[in-house]
Amino acid sequence: MIVTAKLGFSAAHRLHNPNFDAEWNRQKYDKCDNAGGHGHNYVIEVSVSGDIDPQTGMVIDLTKLKDIIRRELLDHVDHRNLNSDVPFLGGVIPTAENLAVSFWKRLSPAIDEGALCQIVLHETEKNSVVYRGE
Ligand SMILES: [Zn+2]
Repeated sequence: MIVTAKLGFSAAHRLHNPNFDAEWNRQKYDKCDNAGGHGHNYVIEVSVSGDIDPQTGMVIDLTKLKDIIRRELLDHVDHRNLNSDVPFLGGVIPTAENLAVSFWKRLSPAIDEGALCQIVLHETEKNSVVYRGE
């Protein structure tokens, strides 16, 4: 059984790899390399798999799961600059791919009922990534 909680946050980022020159970065990241930075309204879907607890009828209480997501992730990234304001993203180029991996590392140990099995991160309405762990 898989249950999913869906939440949103807004954050600014700039995609830029300092190991390469301006032209490489412009070609790779286009608008997301804008030095002024820009933001996205991200949507994250966190899925937990496990057995249904016969006493509660639930895999994990979704209210509790959302509290964990807020405490571990959203309180740290919402309305922040992902390049500079979030210690656990230090040194990470904040692409949706890298964010999903970093979010997995923070969330996985915090989920104590069932197991984290998938993170879907929507950067825009049209662009999203799916991460299922290593
Ligand atoms: Zn962007």
